[in-house]
Amino acid sequence: MKNTRRNFLKKISVAGILTPLITEKALAYPVITERKLRVALCGLGSYATNQLAPGIEKSKNCELVGIVTGTPEKAAKWKEKYKLQDKNIYNYENFDQIATNPDIDVVYIVLPNSMHADFVIRTAKAGKHVITEKPMSISVKEAKEMIEFCQKAGVKLGVGYRLHYEPFTQEIMRLVKDKDFGKVKFVETKFAWRNRNPNAWRMQNKYSGGGALMDVGIYCINASRYATGEEPISVTAQAVKTEPEMYRDIEETILWQLKFPSGAVASGMSSYATNAQKLSIHYENGGLDLAPAYDYGPLKGSTNKGPLEMPVVHHQAYQMDGFADAILNNKPILTPGEEGLKDMIIIEAIKKAAKTGKEVKINIL
Ligand code: NAD
Repeated sequence: MKNTRRNFLKKISVAGILTPLITEKALAYPVITERKLRVALCGLGSYATNQLAPGIEKSKNCELVGIVTGTPEKAAKWKEKYKLQDKNIYNYENFDQIATNPDIDVVYIVLPNSMHADFVIRTAKAGKHVITEKPMSISVKEAKEMIEFCQKAGVKLGVGYRLHYEPFTQEIMRLVKDKDFGKVKFVETKFAWRNRNPNAWRMQNKYSGGGALMDVGIYCINASRYATGEEPISVTAQAVKTEPEMYRDIEETILWQLKFPSGAVASGMSSYATNAQKLSIHYENGGLDLAPAYDYGPLKGSTNKGPLEMPVVHHQAYQMDGFADAILNNKPILTPGEEGLKDMIIIEAIKKAAKTGKEVKINIL
């Protein structure tokens, strides 16, 4: 049954083009680890509760063994639900004691953006591997410090770019390499959701480091890089506020245009004032649309030759198995801190371009 589906998918992936594009990797993450990766989640909000914890449960090679929370009621609930040992339950104050805990391999930071750097550095100091959610930080400076600290501490630093581990995104990455449709000429992408809670940390610059650009625009930036296979060299941008009284402290809507060395251009939009989610890639000889492009799935794709059929997987489970593979088998992390830093460099350039109205050069090493 599995083989039949695999063979079928091999034949039709980009309809009409026969390429061996579905690998074992796409159907089940091919991780072989001697034991499970023992994960502690730090910050038990919506993403940790509804996506990451179930992802860890569904993964083949990870187990949730610990938590870090400021809320005792959550600690009790999670302890019961995931059968956690008391010694693996921390709060933000006693967190550093994790250094002497031999039963935790990696801490996954799922806190508001402005807290990522501090907790990544504390985790590295404790000698544990660390994964942080996107955006990895609220500035380029912080991102560089985080990378440096982890390098010095000899621990791995990963960023939760879950899409890199799922088949639709991997297919987009393959297409740019194998050029089934020729070179990429133009990318058009947007990600927006209507954020109406003025009290939420996402609406406060000191916690979020910005508005929709930091939160969801980052997906468009990251996609523009993997869809073209290039790093941008400059950007122009425009910031718009249709509801200044609602989005007082943060940017609401930003539009930007990234230029790449090949001449390709990626036009992006992120906003908290509307709902939108799409990635369109225009090649020399065809086009690909993904909509939704960035949600937890199922993602939905089409090309000018027909539907893009790819296996639908649990993003967080695949991502966790990817991290387990890298950490336990001592391989490079697919989405390391350096990947997060590149997006932070672009985010700062977009903000500067929107503020000055000038084209801003981008230098990604
Ligand atoms: P959330 O508000 O639901 O959870 C944040 C958690 O941090 C809560 O448990 C809260 O109690 C805790 N916290 C500790 N100190 C806090 C403070 N001073 N203010 C506010 N909360 C505090 O947020 P979330 O949606 O779970 O997002 C957490 C992180 O995960 C963010 O960086 C976000 O960008 C990222 N995220 C990633 C994805 C993805 O698909 N990769 C999806 C959603 C969120």
